[in-house]
Amino acid sequence: MHYDIAVIGGGPGGYVAALHAARLGKTVALIEAKDLGGTCLNRGCIPSKTWLKHAEIIESIEKAHEWGIETGTLAFSLAKMKQRKDSVIMRLRQGIAGLLRQEKIALFQGYGQVLPDGHTVEIVADGKAERITAERMIVATGSTPVIPPIEGLDSVHYETSDTIFDLAEIPASLTIIGGGVIGVELACIFAALKTEVTVIEMANQIIPSEDAEAAGVLRKQLQMKGIRFATGSKVDHVAQTGKMITVKGTDANGHAFALETASLLVCVGRKPNTSAVSQLPLAKNGPFIAVNDRMETSVPSVYAIGDVIGGYQLAHVASAEAIVAAANASGLAKTIGCRVVPRCIYTLPEVASVGISEQEAVKQGLSVKTARFDLIGNGKAISADEFAGFVKIVYEERFGEILGVTMVGPHVTEMISSASAYMFLEGTVEELAEMIHPHPTVSESLGELAQHILTRLKRKQ
Ligand code: FAD
Repeated sequence: MHYDIAVIGGGPGGYVAALHAARLGKTVALIEAKDLGGTCLNRGCIPSKTWLKHAEIIESIEKAHEWGIETGTLAFSLAKMKQRKDSVIMRLRQGIAGLLRQEKIALFQGYGQVLPDGHTVEIVADGKAERITAERMIVATGSTPVIPPIEGLDSVHYETSDTIFDLAEIPASLTIIGGGVIGVELACIFAALKTEVTVIEMANQIIPSEDAEAAGVLRKQLQMKGIRFATGSKVDHVAQTGKMITVKGTDANGHAFALETASLLVCVGRKPNTSAVSQLPLAKNGPFIAVNDRMETSVPSVYAIGDVIGGYQLAHVASAEAIVAAANASGLAKTIGCRVVPRCIYTLPEVASVGISEQEAVKQGLSVKTARFDLIGNGKAISADEFAGFVKIVYEERFGEILGVTMVGPHVTEMISSASAYMFLEGTVEELAEMIHPHPTVSESLGELAQHILTRLKRKQ
């Protein structure tokens, strides 16, 4: 069979690329080795957010007692949590399958390998191989967890984000190696389930790529839920000791530490899946496939998108790149403008950011100002007893252009879209201050902060 475009990988990069190309009138084949929806739907965004909802409900029930609402004894059923997660995944997966059918996209279940001509894909399923050809290829094969070279790791049972959602029982204790986004979200889930959680992070702050103050507030709030953190710390050795795992390492002061844990989760980053294109002479950017702003690789007929090209490893970035790749592979001309990328961490409290952080601005030597509004001054946050957090704006002083926003608190992963919109439209602090925000909402804190900044700017003039 010959197609205009073959897409390899059915995650939020691949299926969006396939749908977009089909809507542009192209004949499209989509090849997926496992489950439609990729990491995001099956082992990432959706299972984690489904279980974070469980954690949120547990926290609300616990708080209810303080607020004079009496409930029964709390009990958790991991089996029911898994059932709910699986039904959410199934429902969304069926939705994707339906869209593919509607657009008459040919779905091939199997492992795809692009042959050296750059136009043929060999698809292997159940030991049988078949070949299809295409004018253009879009590689959207995603990424898998990095397993660090820690002594003894090979000989203990450990979890990754690929296996943690299939645990047979709630562990009494869980040590998480890696305090990045995935690590802290999973820490929140298991702490709510009354697992004793310890997070060990090599950098000096958790969520290392985010604003330091936001990381500080998050750490404090998670510590209040009983989660223990060791930052600036490195795990050197792990070993099975009966039913427990012993974790040894070096802390921030260079002192040796050792702890015992019932379960171990490794979350230290993700590496690209490039074996599907190992027979092509593709230029690389470190381990990732190198692309230009049209998502073109160094091989003319081949495009690449999503986690396999590195950068922000986020589902919405993969989907944005998918639209660009599909347009170019269909003969249109489109480039990606990824300056405004919202980033969300769905912990309790949530963290969300867009654009540049204060520390990043300092690192780049930019002449910017920052201002912060603490949610302790926000009526909606206080009424919900969720005022541990803030909104922060990084702006350029001359025109007041907003260059970055970071928020910690309730609903901020929803609120960040409006901050992204101001930035996308190159909005200024003045425009933000003039907008009417509804009251009482947490989002009005953004408007209030903009008014403070405006007063500050006017005083200077
Ligand atoms: P993937 O989703 O990884 O899809 C790639 C697909 O390609 C897979 O289905 C794979 O089976 C298939 N494949 C690979 N090789 C082949 C081959 N040779 N032949 C056929 N098929 C192949 N991002 C967010 O934006 N928000 C979140 O809240 C969020 N939460 C996350 C939570 C966790 C626990 C994890 C692990 C990730 C999370 N992410 C989140 C990241 C997000 O999942 C990824 O950025 C996103 O899935 C990348 O999409 P992709 O299409 O590039 O790759």
